[in-house]
Amino acid sequence: MEQPYMVGKWHGLNNYQCPYCPFNTLDEAMAMQHYIDAHVPQREPPPGVHGMVLVADRHGRQVAMQMTEDDYASADTNQN
Ligand SMILES: [Zn+2]
Repeated sequence: MEQPYMVGKWHGLNNYQCPYCPFNTLDEAMAMQHYIDAHVPQREPPPGVHGMVLVADRHGRQVAMQMTEDDYASADTNQN
């Protein structure tokens, strides 16, 4: 698998740059994690609700909630 980031130099250190957005980091592991988090579809949500979950409040009304990165992180942790 090709590296999903570009490697440049910053003050003599390797600087890992995302080719898909302005993200860059000096930490190679973080560059890989960024690519997975930001650019690899983790799930297949229905069209039009990407990144959103619909829940109903106690009155039965639907409430749109934005998924946070913490939600994804905890879901990943719970798989183990
Ligand atoms: Zn990126």
